[in-house]
Amino acid sequence: MAEPVRVAVIGSGPAGLYAAEALVKQTGGNVRVDVLDRLPTPYGLVRYGVAPDHKSIKAIARYLQKVLEGEGVRFFGCLELGRDLTRADLLDCYDAVIYATGAMVDRHMAIPGEDLPGSIAATDFVNWYCGHPDAADHVFDLSVEEVAVIGVGNVAVDVVRILARTADELRETDVPEQVIEALARSRVRRVHMIGRRGPAQAKFTTKEARELGELPNAAIHVSPQDMELDPASAALAESDRHVRGNIKVLSGWTGEPADRPRHIDVRFWRAPIEILGTDRVEGLRLEKTRLDETGRVTGTGEYETLPVGMVLRSVGYQSVPLEGIPFDERAYVVPNDGGRILAPDGTRVPREYVAGWIKRGPTGVVGTNKSDAAETVRNLLDDLSGDRTAPGGTIEELLEARDLPVVTYADWLNLDAAEIALARSLDRGERVKLARWEAMTKACRGD
Ligand SMILES: Cc1cc2nc3c(=O)[nH]c(=O)nc-3n(C[C@H](O)[C@H](O)[C@H](O)COP(=O)(O)OP(=O)(O)OC[C@H]3O[C@@H](n4cnc5c(N)ncnc54)[C@H](O)[C@@H]3O)c2cc1C
Repeated sequence: MAEPVRVAVIGSGPAGLYAAEALVKQTGGNVRVDVLDRLPTPYGLVRYGVAPDHKSIKAIARYLQKVLEGEGVRFFGCLELGRDLTRADLLDCYDAVIYATGAMVDRHMAIPGEDLPGSIAATDFVNWYCGHPDAADHVFDLSVEEVAVIGVGNVAVDVVRILARTADELRETDVPEQVIEALARSRVRRVHMIGRRGPAQAKFTTKEARELGELPNAAIHVSPQDMELDPASAALAESDRHVRGNIKVLSGWTGEPADRPRHIDVRFWRAPIEILGTDRVEGLRLEKTRLDETGRVTGTGEYETLPVGMVLRSVGYQSVPLEGIPFDERAYVVPNDGGRILAPDGTRVPREYVAGWIKRGPTGVVGTNKSDAAETVRNLLDDLSGDRTAPGGTIEELLEARDLPVVTYADWLNLDAAEIALARSLDRGERVKLARWEAMTKACRGD
């Protein structure tokens, strides 16, 4: 039997772990996969993106756990490509490398006032309520009564839902204790969700939208005028199941809102043009919009101002470039052909591959990454089926030479157990996340 193929997968989110699974399956087990992550915790956005009240999706972690525990697969936490290791190091230790580092930076809106305190990237807020260690000490001023969430995708819906829920509704979830405490003090009572285009162009899935209408303590409303469809949108609502589903759900929210302590106002046909305020956000100026003959959004010259004290922008995610690896600055992905990285001149870069959001952009659900990763792995194994040069060193030698401490899978299990124990001690559901680096590192050591 040939020597096992040695592959490094950078990123332990769904794409990285589905790639590890595909490597094991497609080689019949004749592989050694090392999954590296900058965090001490595996599962990427399943842990730090998927909303805490989406428990069934979070349960995908249990499937991914089996991959990590499989024969031939190892986890190396707290190892960051670019900080601890370079691309050349990886190519020295492995036959091939798969980059699966995701896409977790918000796009900007490029409007005046965007940098005022109180104007926030949705990713920062998501990271905070999901207990990401980089956001553990973020402080959001929830003493304001009105908030605007800009964007009508699923992430915007998640953010609106978390703001509209009471702390008690989230007690059984895994959000860190300090987040529960901050949400318990929240005075936010009205959340505006704002879309530049109309209801037929909303990006959220019908299932996500429906959940907004089912919140026990929040009434939801959309004005009948915002629901008016131009002929092209009406035709789309006829032909497209997703659009039809969304319109049906939204139309159910046009009546008198229920009498509840919190309110969600969904507002279509409005483009944010300025965030107002001197020392902090005091309002959001919007221009009403319509679609022109070519289907593009255009301003109508009518304006309105919302008296909001916080603006959260959720207008798309993008990947960050990895040092030395080609990057498409317009599409924010690594240029590739079926996962094979392409150099700027269009030729293939040998032994380097991509999977997941960094390969195709931030689209699809968790499961989309499975077939995506399998495609990358098929191409990688096809390419490696020719002559292989033996790697120059091992990751262990490299870690030792640089004195780099790593978090092993066993260390992560210590942290996992500490979070489960914390939930029990607080009488709070299955798990309560530890969010601070220090507490996480301590728990990894089993202290
Ligand atoms: C807020 C939010 C909510 C979502 N909710 C849902 C949902 O409810 N249902 C659903 O199906 N999908 C949901 N998704 C989509 C889903 O999370 C993605 O499809 C999926 O996580 C993408 O997988 P990935 O592996 O490409 O990236 P990620 O999950 O982002 O994983 C990337 C991993 O790479 C690591 N990494 C990054 N840079 C480096 C580096 N330099 N060195 C080492 N490691 C690095 C990161 O720490 C991370 O663990 C949501 C996404 C977001 C943003």
